[in-house]
Amino acid sequence: MARYIGPSCKLCRRENMKLFLKGDRCYSDNCAFERRSYPPGQHGRGRAKHSDYGTQLREKQKLKRMYGLLELQFRRYFEKAERMRGVTGENLLILLERRLDNMVYRMGFASSRNEARQLVRHNHFLVNKKKVNIPSYLVKPGDVIEVKEKSRKLKRIQESLEAIERRGVPQWIEVDKEAFRGVVKNLPSRDELTIPIQEQLIVELYSK
Ligand code: SF4
Repeated sequence: MARYIGPSCKLCRRENMKLFLKGDRCYSDNCAFERRSYPPGQHGRGRAKHSDYGTQLREKQKLKRMYGLLELQFRRYFEKAERMRGVTGENLLILLERRLDNMVYRMGFASSRNEARQLVRHNHFLVNKKKVNIPSYLVKPGDVIEVKEKSRKLKRIQESLEAIERRGVPQWIEVDKEAFRGVVKNLPSRDELTIPIQEQLIVELYSK
């Protein structure tokens, strides 16, 4: 599946918020957004205010970029969220959270979603004891995700797990660091998702 391969930090600056796309660097003084918190480009500092459409568009771009998705993939999640019972915006956020690459990141086995996606693709994880190498695989409550025995000595995974406290683990996930294993206790409610996104704006954008 295609993915964005351009400069990540520019995306944060464009969206005027930290999207945490580069792992440890995002928590350091080298974060580009900390140093230059204005949009990239010649006219970055002097941009005019957004229209309603522009605000909705930016909100969609933020969420899409946070999870490393391209437009078509993101649109498919939205359509799926629309078909589900409940509030479309919340359904969308929960669907994105359920992706296996996101879960690997949330559980602290990777320092960013990008890294998590790569690790999943390279067959380093088991879901309920079965090999799964599809980053978009949707986990469900009760699923157990673990690092394969052979992959536990990988430096990237070990270092990421060591830094888990700094990033924090959501309440709806349980992680056993020593066993390289995490469990999805339940699906999150909107209150438990601390994503700074106004999902209603995305719903309005796609409902035009
Ligand atoms: Fe964004 Fe991370 Fe780059 Fe900072 S270091 S600008 S948070 S991707």
